[in-house]
Amino acid sequence: MLRMPRRRECLKAILLVWLCAVWLAGCARLPFGRPKPPEKAVRWALLSDLHVSEKVPDVVRGFDIHANLDKVVAEIIAAKPDGAIITGDLARNEGLPGDYVMLRKHLEPLMAAMPVAMALGNHDHRVNFLKQFPAHPGEAAPLKGKHVRIIESGGLRFFIMDSLMGTGGPGGIGAGLLGQEQRQWLAKELAKPDPRPVFLFFHHDPGERDGELHDTELLYKIILPCKKVKAIFYGHSHDYAFDKKDGLHLINIPAVAYNFDDKTREPMPVGWVEAKLSARGGEFTLRAVGGNVRDSAKTVSLVWR
Ligand SMILES: [Zn+2]
Repeated sequence: MLRMPRRRECLKAILLVWLCAVWLAGCARLPFGRPKPPEKAVRWALLSDLHVSEKVPDVVRGFDIHANLDKVVAEIIAAKPDGAIITGDLARNEGLPGDYVMLRKHLEPLMAAMPVAMALGNHDHRVNFLKQFPAHPGEAAPLKGKHVRIIESGGLRFFIMDSLMGTGGPGGIGAGLLGQEQRQWLAKELAKPDPRPVFLFFHHDPGERDGELHDTELLYKIILPCKKVKAIFYGHSHDYAFDKKDGLHLINIPAVAYNFDDKTREPMPVGWVEAKLSARGGEFTLRAVGGNVRDSAKTVSLVWR
């Protein structure tokens, strides 16, 4: 005899279908019927670790930090990208008000030419920074005490995140933390039925060392299963490097100010990266202005998961 399904079973089935739909729409690969993100590439200048001080001249580890930044700014303006993203350590050491006044002077021509997004690093001071830079491209995330923005560019979404845990002066701890509130916001944002590829930008490199991003594993738990997150970008180490974890690309943007040439390995380049990003992949061309310039103008091509 045909048994009629009970009400509870029906409800269970409906709930299961709904959960599957939410998962597909949020973090799975594109489900059927959805418009695909456009394949056209956008061009963004990526730079990090400017370490601008109010002191002029300021030579650190043999690098003239003001001259480096001016050179990079002039090159980016000439390259005419869609915008620029700076992954933190904007200020020299403790994020003094005067550092940001000087930074503003350096960046004024760049900001007049294109949107410039900035993340905060361990040498930045959130309040002093926001006083000097009250306006930012994109949309603000509803997070108290963190500087987080979402930028849309050619069907791609850039999340400018905040890993500044506490401003460290010279010799201070350099560690970073996104924190529970920002991680929960990220998980919620990624679960929304929006198929556009997502790229995360923040200051600290992911890792287990004392001076790295302390909630790296908790971040990975959120973003590794979420296939629409294609890559994370960061600075902090003053290295230029490409890595991969479970298909997610990890891209370390070189410093503008100076490298850490400890003589135990080949020195790193100092400069910026010209990035062409699409829903399919990215092309990254190094524009070195100092340090190791051997690979300047060389392009690294990546295909997203
Ligand atoms: Zn730095």
